[in-house]
Amino acid sequence: MATFNLSRYTDRDLSNTDIATKLIHAGTAPDPVTGAILPPIYQTATYAQEAVGIDKGHTYSRASNPTVSALEQKLAGIENAKYALCFVTGMAATTTLLLSLLVSGDHIVCSDVVYGGTVRLIEQILHKFGISVSFVDAADVSNVATAIKPNTKLVFIETPANPTLKLNDIATIADITHAHKLLLIVDNTFLTAVLQQPFKLGADIVLYSTTKYIDGHNATVGGAILTNNAEYFTQFDFNRKTVGSIQSPFAAWLTLQGLKTLELRMKRHSENALIVAKYLRNHRKVKNVFYPGLDDFLQYDLACKQHGNYHGGTLAFTVTGGYTEALQIMNTVKLCTLAESLGSLETLITHPASMTHGPIPKAKRNRLGITDGLIRLSVGLESPQDIINDLAQAIK
Ligand code: PLP
Repeated sequence: MATFNLSRYTDRDLSNTDIATKLIHAGTAPDPVTGAILPPIYQTATYAQEAVGIDKGHTYSRASNPTVSALEQKLAGIENAKYALCFVTGMAATTTLLLSLLVSGDHIVCSDVVYGGTVRLIEQILHKFGISVSFVDAADVSNVATAIKPNTKLVFIETPANPTLKLNDIATIADITHAHKLLLIVDNTFLTAVLQQPFKLGADIVLYSTTKYIDGHNATVGGAILTNNAEYFTQFDFNRKTVGSIQSPFAAWLTLQGLKTLELRMKRHSENALIVAKYLRNHRKVKNVFYPGLDDFLQYDLACKQHGNYHGGTLAFTVTGGYTEALQIMNTVKLCTLAESLGSLETLITHPASMTHGPIPKAKRNRLGITDGLIRLSVGLESPQDIINDLAQAIK
């Protein structure tokens, strides 16, 4: 089939466009063979070669796939990063990242509140290979500097942190990290590039669970690593191919569609979450609400400096009745879905102590604020009043 000329689309320069435009157009253009406006799902294991060494850039779908490459170009494009790589899950991205950068004998500094699976990876798998960790309260940046040792290789932070929403000051931690010639990795899953751009604040590598807001529709699991450094990109790419942790073409295609509305969704998630957080703050059965957009949030000033006016869709709260009442609420909601995960259109309610952060020992959980009475709410895109009505009938 003859191609027709769509070069004004395929060659367009989006570098000076707004993020809302990049989310829709970066990485993809109409297909020059058919004019199809959406990229195809290249559901193929392998690729025919014209002769030995002559291929079209893809040789085997464990190494690369055109649909996955389109998602990578879009993710890199929206954050003005040079390189992006997509993985089968967020944890596959974290695992590939840490295995690429660390060797036996190395030490890492990690913020104390991070996703439970990240803790499990570091403590139960990397530990076996002689890699040690200091978990520190990075909200006090001096703790990061104090924890750095001669064998420290990198600093890993998650902000806002899952599930307590604790924040870390990325720019200040980047200064400390770079003064020691170390790398700063930021897990930006909770806010995405729409609300927080860690590269602009000094991060070297940005990590995502694309399962969450980036897909946004509870349709896929996936992960991504972004960097501007060619050497790290080559290592991550090599390790992804070697361990076989690349994302599937179908997951990449669904994520490409979800991403297009990310800007709209993040703003609406944030607006809804603020409304629900204010409702919960005034409820007589609610003890504490943790949401960076509340003006009485402990790190509200940092939240405004780092995120601006929108603070994401996830909040956490505790109830006066503790564990029993928390469980009763989670077992009584009807519109909110009791489920693991966050970041989707549907409001999800989670009990971190028994679900996402279950692997962390109870004493440590309590010290970090992940108490048995803590409820995490990923506020979706339903009408906020309907979410409130559901919570009202559950919090009796
Ligand atoms: N990072 C954060 C902040 C998360 O919340 C999660 C999962 O909940 C992950 C990473 C891991 O992502 P995945 O579940 O896609 O493996």
